[in-house]
Amino acid sequence: MSEIMDTYRYFKITLPERVKLVAVSKTKPREDIMALYNLGHRIFGENKVQDLVSKAETLPSDIQWHMIGHLQSNKVKYLVPFVSLIHSVDSIKLLETIEKEGAKRNRRIDCLLQVHIALEETKFGFSEEEVMELVNSNKISQFQFVNIRGLMGMATFTEDMEKVRQEFRNLKTIFENIRKNPGFRRDDFSELSMGMSGDYPVAIEEGSTMIRIGSLIFGERNYH
Ligand SMILES: *Cc1c(COP(=O)(O)O)cnc(C)c1O
Repeated sequence: MSEIMDTYRYFKITLPERVKLVAVSKTKPREDIMALYNLGHRIFGENKVQDLVSKAETLPSDIQWHMIGHLQSNKVKYLVPFVSLIHSVDSIKLLETIEKEGAKRNRRIDCLLQVHIALEETKFGFSEEEVMELVNSNKISQFQFVNIRGLMGMATFTEDMEKVRQEFRNLKTIFENIRKNPGFRRDDFSELSMGMSGDYPVAIEEGSTMIRIGSLIFGERNYH
């Protein structure tokens, strides 16, 4: 537990002001979350709807819960009442479902569009072409309850930091191109979620505004 706190303090001291820390607490117990909470931290990320909901129900209500994992349309309704940001929006169908469920609850939902920047085929996300087509379409301006706040991406899992840097740089370029797009001018399209335990320093150098850190804070995860 004291290790959790030491790493957290290190992050608080060293992170540039523009970079928000999402503490990824997936698979970790409530006590670990509360250790950080008691130091003043409020932003936590989970990758499974069920875990997100059950932790949110039993932990302080001023925690900002971020959904970072792949999301199925039929589970959107469970998140809509409370979720603070969905990082992993990767299809138009999902956007439409978030719009519909947001309308039912009269709640605007902050979302990031996940863009596929890695080599691995298994990673979810829009391609660069798809995301550009989407923001150029009038579909997106018709949404009233989906609030697109930026982009999220995951780099290839590799030791080759030059490769990782290229992928983050590519995502940053897509992000800037969208921001410059006259048909898509919004002040709150401002978040670039990139960087995890293994690659966050490079992500920050390449313009990240949000890093998602799990194992470096909470220790390695045990999956059973
Ligand atoms: C698990 C996870 C993270 C955190 O990974 P670490 O390497 O433990 O920091 C970040 N983003 C997503 C989407 C994840 O699923």
